[in-house]
Amino acid sequence: RVSAGRIVASSVEQSYIMIKPDGVQRGLVGEIISRFEKKGFLLKGLKLFQCPKDLAQEHYKDLKDKPFFPGLIEYITSGPVVCMAWEGVGVVASARKLIGATNPLQAEPGTIRGDLAVQTGRNVVHGSDSPDNGKREIALWFKEGELCEWESVLTPWLIE
Ligand code: UDP
Ligand code: MG
Repeated sequence: RVSAGRIVASSVEQSYIMIKPDGVQRGLVGEIISRFEKKGFLLKGLKLFQCPKDLAQEHYKDLKDKPFFPGLIEYITSGPVVCMAWEGVGVVASARKLIGATNPLQAEPGTIRGDLAVQTGRNVVHGSDSPDNGKREIALWFKEGELCEWESVLTPWLIE
């Protein structure tokens, strides 16, 4: 690293961010990626992917007893998603703020869901809810070798 001398490696987190099929269909891929880029996080993995049913079920396994689960699985597998791994200090909580509340009508203006969606069942984007789930979800959605290890020349302009 050129700088970022005070950043402790153990405080760097990764979040799994996914543009859901409605976001892809609605042409929001660039808009959504742009918000994480502009914020200053580092993109470590990116792919367009048609999610199989068993992977969607594994990803959302904590919700399997909810009445909306079958509809959620149908939604997530209804077309390609954009899978991303974003890295940075505090990226997990920050990404959740950038994304906004689960129900887009309750999400604040300025957030992705607050600006770009109207319904919980079509809320355009997913973000991990904890650093442990960030690790779990990135391991679930990306294969060995699909993540890129790289340094951004902007880092010294983002982190003192
Ligand atoms: N969801 C739904 N109906 C609900 C709650 C959730 O369709 O009443 C869907 C929605 O797509 C949401 C996802 O299930 O994003 C996961 O739910 P969670 O509570 O984890 O919300 P998130 O973490 O995505 O904000
Ligand atoms: Mg969640």
